[in-house]
Amino acid sequence: MAHTDNPVQTGIGHRPSRGLGDILLDRFFTTGQVLETERIAARTIRLRIGGPALKSLSCLPGQHVRVLVDGDGLLSRVGDLRTYSVWHFDKDQGELHLCVLDHGDGPGARWARTAEVGQQVRFRGPEGSFVLYPDAPYHLFAGDETAAPAFGPMLRVIPDATPVHGAIETATEADRLPLPRRDELTHPLRGSASAASSEVLLEAVRALTLPDTPGIAYLAGEARTIQRISKHLVHERNWPRRAVRTKPFWTPGKRGMD
Ligand SMILES: Cc1cc2nc3c(=O)[nH]c(=O)nc-3n(C[C@H](O)[C@H](O)[C@H](O)COP(=O)(O)OP(=O)(O)OC[C@H]3O[C@@H](n4cnc5c(N)ncnc54)[C@H](O)[C@@H]3O)c2cc1C
Repeated sequence: MAHTDNPVQTGIGHRPSRGLGDILLDRFFTTGQVLETERIAARTIRLRIGGPALKSLSCLPGQHVRVLVDGDGLLSRVGDLRTYSVWHFDKDQGELHLCVLDHGDGPGARWARTAEVGQQVRFRGPEGSFVLYPDAPYHLFAGDETAAPAFGPMLRVIPDATPVHGAIETATEADRLPLPRRDELTHPLRGSASAASSEVLLEAVRALTLPDTPGIAYLAGEARTIQRISKHLVHERNWPRRAVRTKPFWTPGKRGMD
């Protein structure tokens, strides 16, 4: 077999050492590495990502990062980016944690499933406006497994004296994340039903006993479900639209929503 010293010609699977692509990626992305992976719930993988560059970042509860989930991806391939809420952020340690639902096939789910300690991670952010409204008389949360990683840090910083309400739907009990103030929320199970246009979550929100006046709602997860819950709050409970904050995270057939 012919031998070549030219790495550019060595074919599929080869990663050039540091070309223009890497220099550009370094300019637009923060680079860290996987420090730990853990199945935090049956289908959710927690990735602890760290590195000196993360010490210069800041993050509000509810914000997300956009991760280059295909390590060899080019900037022009937007499909390589997947968005994940920051479950935990520690500026002093230079660490952030993500919780990725292993829903099946997709570059993001594959990335989380196969991530190894020491692996490089490039991402943008933290960023995003899906954050707590500080003066709310109470907060209402509704979403699925993918929403729980955003809700966790938000729930963690709400003062004990401020009431929280909400419903977090999962397929099974084993899919639940260890959320703060979980006893104040309901935890409906949908079993084998689809999380898309979920009746289970809508009914759970409909069943909540809420104060007579509106608080602030945070709805995240599958797009059609949160749309229906938003309509419920606005039309059936007479909440003003501005009191309902929605963030679609995914929907069937659509790739890498943001
Ligand atoms: C602001 C924001 C924050 C997010 N935070 C998180 C987070 O913290 N954790 C998290 O896991 N995800 C989160 N998501 C969703 C995440 O970005 C990806 O959409 C998701 O991981 C799917 O990416 P993928 O590459 O695996 O599949 P894709 O290639 O994007 O999708 C392939 C197909 O898989 C199906 N699919 C995608 N997601 C699901 C699902 N949850 N259940 C069932 N079928 C699905 C759809 O049919 C889709 O067309 C967030 C999204 C946004 C916009």
